[in-house]
Amino acid sequence: MSLTVAGSIAFDSVRTPFGERERMLGGSAVHCSLAASFFTDVHVVGPVGSDFGDEHIAVLDGRGIDVSAIERIAGGQTFFWRGHYEYDMNVAHTDDTRLNVFGDFEPKLSNAASEADTLFLANIQPDLQRQVRAQCSAARLAALDSMNLWIETTRDSLVAAIGEVDCVLMNDAEIRELAGQPNLARAARSIMELGPRIVVAKQGEYGAALFTPSGYFALPGFPLEDVRDPTGAGDSFAGGFLGYLDGRAERDGGHLVLDDATLRRAMAHGTVLASYNVEDFGTERVSRLKRSEVESRLAELRSMTEF
Ligand code: AMP
Repeated sequence: MSLTVAGSIAFDSVRTPFGERERMLGGSAVHCSLAASFFTDVHVVGPVGSDFGDEHIAVLDGRGIDVSAIERIAGGQTFFWRGHYEYDMNVAHTDDTRLNVFGDFEPKLSNAASEADTLFLANIQPDLQRQVRAQCSAARLAALDSMNLWIETTRDSLVAAIGEVDCVLMNDAEIRELAGQPNLARAARSIMELGPRIVVAKQGEYGAALFTPSGYFALPGFPLEDVRDPTGAGDSFAGGFLGYLDGRAERDGGHLVLDDATLRRAMAHGTVLASYNVEDFGTERVSRLKRSEVESRLAELRSMTEF
């Protein structure tokens, strides 16, 4: 069992009320892969430019992530995102997005990456998500994230991509925007009508809500007193969620369980990884995170949400 993650591999310049960083390692695929690597084997897929150094690869490699499907485009520039947050850090303001090497990227997955049982199409242009999906036809669980940029510029492709996955993980505001429906429960149901049977609405510090054909579940964000940079929290949530499901299937001899009880546990793993991600800028906290810290916060979350 393994998880393939395709999405942006980026340099992020970020300003929050608690500091600023220029050109840190980031991107949807990077944050997701780092989080998932605590639970399962991960292949990360995406292009980078000549400006992407060995020290950036080492952050992924250092967590045991398979980096052989990262394509280095000679002379190209790595995807770049600049954003900032106000005191309410639930909303990211995008100041600049440069697709750079994604402009004419044609994904070609390695055998190992295309044979993965679980696939995450992290946030990137939806036609690219579809190309990766087509190459991972064996995946038994395929999930997708997206954002307002793609809803507003490539809506038809996004709807087609959603029709090809089992699970959608998106911000609640973007689920509402895509569905054209202000009520979240109704919006989630209408996303399910496009194909997926699992919808997770991420709600920033307020947590995340799970919709399945038979149920509903929600977890609050883990209460933190120090949040420095929320960039990548959603991707870290997805990494914890999908990494847990894939790793659990590996322990169960390849039997992938997606019942409501298992999905609730996956929500807890997503919540814990997202909470660590926001404690420091970029990938700084998760790259030095220990498995024992994951376990202790899972236990705390469990006792906190029991009633
Ligand atoms: P989030 O988990 O929503 O905070 O995602 C933040 C990450 O998404 C950052 O590391 C960015 O590099 C990346 N990102 C921002 N805009 C885009 C985009 N249009 N396509 C792909 N990735 C993006």
